[in-house]
Amino acid sequence: MYDILIRNGTLVDGTGNPRRKADIAIKDGKIMAVGQLNKAESVRVIDAAGKIVAPGFIDAHSHTDVTVESNPFFESTIRQGITTEVVGNCGDSAAPVSPLSRGGFGKFSESPMNREMTLGQYMDLLEKKGMSANIAWLVGHNTLRSIAGIRGLEYTEDQFRRMDILLRQAMNDGALGMSSGLEFDPGRMSDPEELLRLTKVLKEYDGIYTSHIRNRDTKVLDALAEFLNVIQTNKLRGEVSHMNIRHNTHAPEYAVDQCIKMIQHARDNGFDVLTDMTPLNYGIGSMAGILPMWLTSAPKEQLGQLLLDPLTRKKLRNDCDRYWRFIAGGEWDRVRMQNNMAIPEINGLTFPAIAKLWNKDPWDCYFDILAANAPDIGSVVLVSYLFTDAHLRETISNPLYMLVVDGYSTSIEGAIAKATGFPLHYIGMAWFLTKHVRELHTLSLEEAIRKMTSMPAQHFRLGKRGLLLDDYVADICIFDLEKLETPFDLQNPCQYTKGMDYVMIAGTLVLDEGKHLHTTPGKCLRR
Ligand SMILES: [Zn+2]
Repeated sequence: MYDILIRNGTLVDGTGNPRRKADIAIKDGKIMAVGQLNKAESVRVIDAAGKIVAPGFIDAHSHTDVTVESNPFFESTIRQGITTEVVGNCGDSAAPVSPLSRGGFGKFSESPMNREMTLGQYMDLLEKKGMSANIAWLVGHNTLRSIAGIRGLEYTEDQFRRMDILLRQAMNDGALGMSSGLEFDPGRMSDPEELLRLTKVLKEYDGIYTSHIRNRDTKVLDALAEFLNVIQTNKLRGEVSHMNIRHNTHAPEYAVDQCIKMIQHARDNGFDVLTDMTPLNYGIGSMAGILPMWLTSAPKEQLGQLLLDPLTRKKLRNDCDRYWRFIAGGEWDRVRMQNNMAIPEINGLTFPAIAKLWNKDPWDCYFDILAANAPDIGSVVLVSYLFTDAHLRETISNPLYMLVVDGYSTSIEGAIAKATGFPLHYIGMAWFLTKHVRELHTLSLEEAIRKMTSMPAQHFRLGKRGLLLDDYVADICIFDLEKLETPFDLQNPCQYTKGMDYVMIAGTLVLDEGKHLHTTPGKCLRR
């Protein structure tokens, strides 16, 4: 007697092979049999006729560590079929928890900020409270730097030892590896030598090194070379996070082709390096990311005053030509507020709209918002139009790219909805299927699902996940591709993906006939 029997489904099993009709039998959280199981008996039978049965999707680039405490039921991502999210990306992880760190990219939590916890203690806390989906952790280099008290280029040996100990502790606690975020503070003030030194620890634990690399415009090839040097010198597995080029930021022509060649060359030499791409023309980013280092390296308690000072502002207008360089080019209409804690009523508005509302020019609005959030300017998140359709197509279809969201699991209700009011967080993963597979035929359904299941599972070593095979963990989603709906409405952004019928984690249903059961079979997947 099985626990669950999925009958008559069309399996897209995560390998990339063509779909086929088969049944799946599940017991004790695992897949026990795949095939024609006419005589099998089961407590629960799900009729999947006319539907796709796939491994639960794995988002290898998520910032859900920021929202998981407020949103333990993974409301927006479970409804897209996502069963595992790799968190702690772009150099920022919500754990180890310390008042000294920013607490993750975007810093949204209704939980107390003045706590101190190791990654292991935080994992235990989350599991005790209960989670609907799995998360696996990277520990952030910016987080380690912040806790060690390193802000500039220089560090003492004591401070380095502190980072080294924290990283080892996190790896012992079950982190998959370390992420860096070298366009953001304080990581952008680190030199390549520091990362080369620190990532040596990862080799001892067979950990992965992921990087939001230092530059993706004029110096993108140097930035990728810096990353590949770390991988090759320390013999690590590596992931170049979101290897893309933002539109109109002065990158050399064919930069992305060059980057792909460099990654392929490293693979040809035996290094396990891959990369990933996000689904939309839009993406999230750090508001402070465009600020020059002469400002961000100033003492924290002076940041607010400096940002209000007219002379400093005058200088800043010339010196903010970095990161999202289209802002320096005056393309404010591409930029909107996602989340700032100090003036929440402007969240969701574009910069031209804020400028009109406040009757000021966009630069002054920009500095006013940052000043209001000082000293915690690193927590403010923007959304922007970043990528052309052609760029989405060339990256998403490339075999070296897995498919990721780079957003947060969120809810349509409560404070969290107001802080994450952008469609990406509600539809991102499913958009690959509705837009890029169903509408544009950028890639096949089989290939898309491989890129969001077995590819991340194997690269990030998530154990027996990401395939529909005997003895694999029964993380499974079931849906009708024709009926999947991914509402994209900038005026009404907080809308869930519709049409996902069943999602189970380790054989426990979380979504049943489209209804969220609020069961909590999720775990922190330890290395
Ligand atoms: Zn990033």
